[in-house]
Amino acid sequence: MNQSSLSARSLTDQGVSATTERHPGVSVSDLYTAASDLQRLLSKDTLVRTMEPLGPKTTLKVGGAADLYVVPSQVEDLAETLAWAGKHSMPIHLLGRGSNLLVSDEGVRGVVVSLASQAFLDLEVKGEQIRSGAGVRLKRLSEQARQQGLAGLEFLEGIPGSVGGALRMNAGAMGQWIFDVVLQMTTMDRSGQLRTYRADQITAGYRHCPLLIEEIAIEATFRTLHASEIQVKKTMEAYATQRRSSQPIGSSAGCMFKNPEGGSAGKLIDELGLKGQRMGQAVISEIHGNFIINQGGASAQDVLNLMELVRKRAREDRGVELEIEVQRLGL
Ligand SMILES: Cc1cc2nc3c(=O)[nH]c(=O)nc-3n(C[C@H](O)[C@H](O)[C@H](O)COP(=O)(O)OP(=O)(O)OC[C@H]3O[C@@H](n4cnc5c(N)ncnc54)[C@H](O)[C@@H]3O)c2cc1C
Repeated sequence: MNQSSLSARSLTDQGVSATTERHPGVSVSDLYTAASDLQRLLSKDTLVRTMEPLGPKTTLKVGGAADLYVVPSQVEDLAETLAWAGKHSMPIHLLGRGSNLLVSDEGVRGVVVSLASQAFLDLEVKGEQIRSGAGVRLKRLSEQARQQGLAGLEFLEGIPGSVGGALRMNAGAMGQWIFDVVLQMTTMDRSGQLRTYRADQITAGYRHCPLLIEEIAIEATFRTLHASEIQVKKTMEAYATQRRSSQPIGSSAGCMFKNPEGGSAGKLIDELGLKGQRMGQAVISEIHGNFIINQGGASAQDVLNLMELVRKRAREDRGVELEIEVQRLGL
């Protein structure tokens, strides 16, 4: 076991006895043993932690801890972690920048993997193509394009996610989405095999890329066009201004619901008079009806209750079945 990671969050630090039952049939000592077992298979730089709090790793800032939390320091360690989890029938969950995630108050069973290590942060520009690791922040990607005078990725500015999360969600803004500009994507399947897909081999829809439910995005290559840096900067500034005037500041997960066919979920929530509604410390934003703000100390249950209220009112008053956009972990 990587002693530095264990000592950083030792069991006693977390105020739990080693025999405490974490969930039916699995004690904290079982998790500790599992983490040691896994760490032995991995390189020393790969981080393995038990009971890692996830709330602070999300923009909504709610939710409990991951049984096991792994940050692979190399691609091979990701494959090894997947194989180990498969052998022990443990679910694997990917965590990007946590900007579209609602984590259960009871935490998450199994292994939560973050691709925040250097191995997944490469960013390389070749002519009009940019190859980016899945852990790269969208902000860094769009800034890099701007600095090189490359247009096409301006709409990603202001989306607070990583490339991996954005591919999974087919994130978009300003009338574009990320798969409009993907040339190819490399994934790892659950058996640890790497595959590269051309854009025309990938199906992606509104806030969804089905391939990435099972497979893990490792990197993608984006298509851009030479332009003047000043023009790219101007476009990004215009988008940022638009975002600032229409979105609230505060802890949120962005839009909670997908827009219904031909309409806007935010507008619908506004028309239903639900802005300002609260459950505990979770409040529907007065600025954008599709945002739920954690005013400090909200639970995942508060957020779920508020979402249920919205869905019930949309169904009963308008006959609209709102589909949830935010991804739920452990729920
Ligand atoms: C203030 C604010 C504004 C936002 N504005 C927008 C917007 O304009 N447009 C928009 O589309 N979204 C928006 N979002 C939502 C969010 O930023 C995007 O969905 C973003 O792409 C999520 O990326 P992430 O890295 O944070 O992913 P996470 O939230 O960590 O994860 C999202 C999903 O992706 C999966 N995932 C993460 N990494 C990988 C990977 N490598 N391989 C496979 N699956 C993976 C996770 O398991 C999860 O299911 C906004 C959010 C906030 C808080």
